[in-house]
Amino acid sequence: MRSAELDSREKYMRDLFAAEDEALLRIRQALREDGKEGINVGANEGRILQVLLKMTGARRVIEIGTLYGYSTLWMARALPEGGKITTLEAMPDHASRARELLEQTECADRIEIIEGDARASLKNIRGPFDVAFIDADKANYLHYLDWAEENVRPGGLIIGDNTYLFGKVFDANLADDSEPSVTAMRTFNRRLADKSKYASVLVPTSEGMTVAFKI
Ligand code: SAH
Ligand code: MG
Repeated sequence: MRSAELDSREKYMRDLFAAEDEALLRIRQALREDGKEGINVGANEGRILQVLLKMTGARRVIEIGTLYGYSTLWMARALPEGGKITTLEAMPDHASRARELLEQTECADRIEIIEGDARASLKNIRGPFDVAFIDADKANYLHYLDWAEENVRPGGLIIGDNTYLFGKVFDANLADDSEPSVTAMRTFNRRLADKSKYASVLVPTSEGMTVAFKI
């Protein structure tokens, strides 16, 4: 498909279903100024997350990988009164930018940002969570999945972003052991494809988003 056509398709969907308000645009602008736009999910993906959270009636959500809080804000807006999203970020400057940008929103009181390596933070966090959104360092996805399998309730969701691993998961020229992140992401998807544990799908967003409903 030509890229102009892709752009208009994307724009059509965004305008109709996933329009960004000022707060989301402010975060996107901050990302752009710092050369980080595009590391965040897109608006349509943010809306997918939001709708999934609504469908599961999510009240307690954990996000691994905050960046500037763009996906965090989409998800926070799907929570009911009294709901809470905990988001984990290793880099101090990312965490502080996120804090500053999210503090100005109507969702500030339902967002908790925990700074530090998620592997360490998760040791002190216990479920049950309704949704875990995994979107941090790819080589550690299995570690996050181990945690999520224990701490997401049955009927909840485990969601992984970037699960195409930039095209590497389906590159036949790359062996499973070619790179730690390839090993990790292929195993991550294989585990979530287990029909005895999950009703799951790899949603074909531009980056790939694996969504698993825990049975
Ligand atoms: N979810 C965000 C994008 C996250 S980008 C959005 O869509 O808007 C991935 C983030 O994970 C980066 O900010 C990076 O600093 C963070 N990260 C990487 N390794 C991490 C780790 N071990 N623990 C916590 N955060 C980590
Ligand atoms: Mg991502």
